[in-house]
Amino acid sequence: MARTIEPDCRQCRREGCKLFLKGERCTTKKCAMERRPVIPGQHGNSRRRVTFSEYGSQLREKQKVKRMYGVLEKQFRAYYEEAERMKGVTGENMLSLIERRLDNVVYRMGIGASRSQCRQIVNHGHITVNGKRVNIPSYQVKVGDVIAIKENKQDLEGFKALKGMKIVMPKWLEFDTNALTGKIVALPARDDIDADIKEQLIIELYSR
Ligand code: SF4
Repeated sequence: MARTIEPDCRQCRREGCKLFLKGERCTTKKCAMERRPVIPGQHGNSRRRVTFSEYGSQLREKQKVKRMYGVLEKQFRAYYEEAERMKGVTGENMLSLIERRLDNVVYRMGIGASRSQCRQIVNHGHITVNGKRVNIPSYQVKVGDVIAIKENKQDLEGFKALKGMKIVMPKWLEFDTNALTGKIVALPARDDIDADIKEQLIIELYSR
């Protein structure tokens, strides 16, 4: 499956903000954005205070969100096009579609430490939706879907550690850490999604 090969921390340095791509390391002092928050490359230091044109800011915002969710251009654009066909605000629809990817849901439920790890968990067939194994990270969840860790995988080390754990998650999701089963209780609203995203810039870029 196609995915970006640029190192995770380099992507954060490029975007000038933490994208939380490496799980626990992101909240420690080892985080590259704590140690060396400069643009990657030979002239990174001198470009620290770079200002962007209108187009540049729109492009950077799109790249930031793509990297945050680990989605490549073709699929990202497809989310925009689908959001445009939907009723309501295009930017919010687009974020809602991306947020409802199965790999992101698994991440939000706290099953894995990063979206890339959750993508792998899904890819390896450890997750079921309504009792059936689903190994497609981009699978779109719906309200009422029951998401669970496959019964015969619940004894794997990483999943056993989840048992009884208290996990903070957005209000559109539920996850019982004893049963290792969760539910989609609502569609994600704008305030459930990263407040730092300026989706309007992405819409402006795609509508050029
Ligand atoms: Fe980004 Fe995490 Fe690397 Fe920090 S540790 S730079 S947040 S990927």
